[in-house]
Amino acid sequence: MAFNDRELNCRDCGAAFVFTAGEQEFYATKGLQHDPVRCPSCRQSRKLLRPEDREESPHFGVYVSWGGRTPRQLHVATCAQCGNTTEVPFVPRGDRPVYCSNCYNDVRVKQEERELAEAEAASARISAAAAQAAGRDAALTERVVAPSE
Ligand SMILES: [Zn+2]
Ligand SMILES: [Zn+2]
Repeated sequence: MAFNDRELNCRDCGAAFVFTAGEQEFYATKGLQHDPVRCPSCRQSRKLLRPEDREESPHFGVYVSWGGRTPRQLHVATCAQCGNTTEVPFVPRGDRPVYCSNCYNDVRVKQEERELAEAEAASARISAAAAQAAGRDAALTERVVAPSE
């Protein structure tokens, strides 16, 4: 069976593209009876989308073996802060609180603030201790603090 290059129009961008004889032969060997509906560059950009977003998404059996990847499994969890049901990409365990994405940002900011406050408190304690030592032995502290006098 002979194939000839055919010109088709891309469904997405409307550009004309060539469905080459070689491609037609390839399609035929795959048992595909439909012409491609998109130009190669639109096909390429659609490939970057998740398979479930594609219109020509393969049947389930093909889908699960798609490139060896399995779809990301989400687990239902309850947000420890607001109590809303949320989905997380890991199995929730009892030892760590799970947050919805809203609360997660919230919690992260508060955690950073707390760490900063703790660091400031620690350095305040260190200077207080240094001041005390200075009171006890001013001469020694002077040598330690300003050795290049
Ligand atoms: Zn196109
Ligand atoms: Zn929440």
